[in-house]
Amino acid sequence: MTPRTTHHAPRNVLHLECVICGDTYQPNEAAYVCPKHGNEGILDVVYDYDVVKERVSREELARDTSHPTIWRYKAMLPVRQDAEVPPLAVGGTPLYQTERLAAELGLKHVWVKDDGRNPTASFKDRASAIAVVKARESANTQHAIRNTIITTASTGNAAAALAGICASIGQENVIFVPKSAPEAKIAQLLVYGSTVLLVDGTYGDAFELCLESAETYNWYNRNTGYNPYMTEGKKTVSYEIAEQLGWDAPDVVFVSVGDGCIIGGVHKGFKDLLAMGWIEQMPRIIGVQAEGSNYLAEAWENGEDVLSKPAIAANTMADSISAGLPRDRIKALAAVNETNGAYITVSDQQILAAIPTLAQGSGVFAEPAGAAAFAGLQKAVESGLVNSDERIVVINTGNGLKDIRGAMASLKVEPFVIRPNIEDVNAIFK
Ligand SMILES: *Cc1c(COP(=O)(O)O)cnc(C)c1O
Ligand SMILES: [Zn+2]
Repeated sequence: MTPRTTHHAPRNVLHLECVICGDTYQPNEAAYVCPKHGNEGILDVVYDYDVVKERVSREELARDTSHPTIWRYKAMLPVRQDAEVPPLAVGGTPLYQTERLAAELGLKHVWVKDDGRNPTASFKDRASAIAVVKARESANTQHAIRNTIITTASTGNAAAALAGICASIGQENVIFVPKSAPEAKIAQLLVYGSTVLLVDGTYGDAFELCLESAETYNWYNRNTGYNPYMTEGKKTVSYEIAEQLGWDAPDVVFVSVGDGCIIGGVHKGFKDLLAMGWIEQMPRIIGVQAEGSNYLAEAWENGEDVLSKPAIAANTMADSISAGLPRDRIKALAAVNETNGAYITVSDQQILAAIPTLAQGSGVFAEPAGAAAFAGLQKAVESGLVNSDERIVVINTGNGLKDIRGAMASLKVEPFVIRPNIEDVNAIFK
């Protein structure tokens, strides 16, 4: 018989707290969600900041000159300090100050945080890296989950992220994505060797089917807005932004929103830093949704209760933020409400137009959902939601090569097609 290891929760974690009822659980008491509230009862990881501060300080971080990744902040993450982490370099993405773009908008300080620079080219790597560590932890500590297979449903990027990080450690995984996902994202899954189930349905359908399958086959479940640890990986973006700005938090952060897990993570990261006294102000967080997938914007504007508000029919070409029923909607609303932020919507046309504007003004090529955040900033300038001297960060969540069809649709120019002779070149330039 294999000896059973006792469960040691990471010592910096106090408990998990249901976002609906506030009941608390030890990490080994609730597998993923609050037993009383089912799939809506998402848990928030609550830390003992004294333990965290014993382990890490801003000065120590400054002395750490190794290649920056999210594991730089391991003491602030819900993993054991001795946990092995996957080798791919997740996080540590650049924060570019973009003077030309700022000037065009009549603003003074605009930065683009380019999370398209992650190993699988989207923000989702931050969460999937944590998922892999937590899956290994539960495989070691629970009878039920042996030889763990990890699963997720995704519009594409979370799946690609899980696939890539699993490949880096030879970890089996099963992926549920809508059949309509962009080809590049499906290619990533297949190249990384995942078992890929293309679901003839929406992301919502894929999500429900993945939950049911995980339960049936006892797979480790990485799903967004379900697994409590995904927010914790995503929060590292705020740590990086604050550190890159010398621990002087920005005034405003723009982020695109589908399920609402990223925006909840952005909020969580800044909340941690405030609680530890590492930053002095909470930025206003602006969530940007597509007009055709505006569940949260609508709920925020009308003060609707997101526990009773029914799903909408989502329809946007920004596939990564197409979510009829955002899974992490409670955290997503709190991120805006508790920071004096706002939800705004942008049309698909504005999203598409933002792709070349952002690329030509900063060198950052974003997929539609990433460019949506910048389109949101453009709209916020028009409506006076931001002031010219505020320090503004726009997060690009995904690389433009993820969706070439979207990129091509964003362009109004055609390349010159010429015969291979100088006369044809002359015809253009003379
Ligand atoms: C997932 C994703 C988003 C939205 O994140 P949510 O947590 O679903 O709100 C935005 N942009 C890109 C590129 C994504 O992959
Ligand atoms: Zn509950």
